[in-house]
Amino acid sequence: MSKRRGNSMNDHMDLDSLSDISRLHSIDQQQQNDRTKLSQPISDEPEQEQDTRPPNLTILQRFITNWLIMDPVLLEKYQHTKTPRRNYQVQKSEDLIYIYLFGGRFRTIKAKPISLLTGLVIFAGGILFWVFEASWLWHHISPSLVITFTYLWLLTAMFYIKSCTSDPGIVPRNLHLPKTIQDGKIKNPPDEYFNTVSLPYKVKGEKVQVKYCSTCHIWRPPKTSHCGVCEVCILNHDHHCIYLNNCIGERNYKYFLWFLLFSTSSCVYMMILTMIHLCHYRLVANSEIHDFATSVVRYPASLFLFIYSFIAWIYPMGLLGFHTFLTGKNITTREYLNYVYKKNKKTNPFVNVFTSHSILKNLYINWLGKSSGVALVRPRDKYTPGDIRFEAIAPLDIYSSEISLEDL
Ligand SMILES: [Zn+2]
Ligand SMILES: [Zn+2]
Repeated sequence: MSKRRGNSMNDHMDLDSLSDISRLHSIDQQQQNDRTKLSQPISDEPEQEQDTRPPNLTILQRFITNWLIMDPVLLEKYQHTKTPRRNYQVQKSEDLIYIYLFGGRFRTIKAKPISLLTGLVIFAGGILFWVFEASWLWHHISPSLVITFTYLWLLTAMFYIKSCTSDPGIVPRNLHLPKTIQDGKIKNPPDEYFNTVSLPYKVKGEKVQVKYCSTCHIWRPPKTSHCGVCEVCILNHDHHCIYLNNCIGERNYKYFLWFLLFSTSSCVYMMILTMIHLCHYRLVANSEIHDFATSVVRYPASLFLFIYSFIAWIYPMGLLGFHTFLTGKNITTREYLNYVYKKNKKTNPFVNVFTSHSILKNLYINWLGKSSGVALVRPRDKYTPGDIRFEAIAPLDIYSSEISLEDL
């Protein structure tokens, strides 16, 4: 038995498995640390530890902590009603790290909020444009330029918000629980739960591989992966974007693509408009300005905005090119990095069974044709006590006594 498990693990050992193992190590370590912390009495304020009564929050405080920015872990501590009323108020598993905004309508994760910095770059760019450029363009060239820029900027801001706060395609947890659970742990899981299983495909020799997620306790649908940052499985997982503080997957990939397109377009448009401002003296007879240097001295904000939009343009432009290439092939960033880029093409060829065999059709599917689908975990739905999707069950213990580290 142990041999079979060991070999099968070895056969299917890949980066994903390695990351799973290292994550399990870190979870174990974290749980040990937590236990150590809990076992140590806090000598300074022992009386407050005993007091489990929720503090008397004012209506404004409750509005802020229960609705505006809601951390379910904190709500667990401070809630006044014992039973949570909606799904977003339940977060029993400690490794889930979502924070909900506006009554569960938006979400983000408890990582470094670099998405706020991204938002600042977008919003500051728009505000600086309206303060320093819009009036001059409106009166000297045409109001249509300002209106077009504003429209592009609004689309960028909208797709930014949609990309970083919407559901990327989270798969509910605990859907495929094997055998018995004792003390929140799975006992004697079947062997196939440690293997990669190949599903049959219409073309002989080609296969679709699926794996069991030991943390979420589900058989992952094809193209689904576990995100080590969000600690959930994401359908059609593309990547975890630190600049948006969210995963990019089945339900928000389209928003992400359009965000890249419109942010790139806004930057290019701003570069063109600021250059028109700086070079306008060439188009006007009897202008007070006779050379570019004088124009820069006269309109320094235009030069600053040109440089600002150029710097802001570089990264989304690179990503836009990369994702246009990926969507043309209908593969995800993860598939590209794990199979196409790294793996040896001769010994382990990557067969993309999801391509439509037409670049245009692939592009259409990804950019326009696919709907964002249905949320499988709806945060604002009424919570049913005992809903297995929200129960805390320990990750599958792959280090059973039957398996040694050497086998892996
Ligand atoms: Zn998972
Ligand atoms: Zn993620």
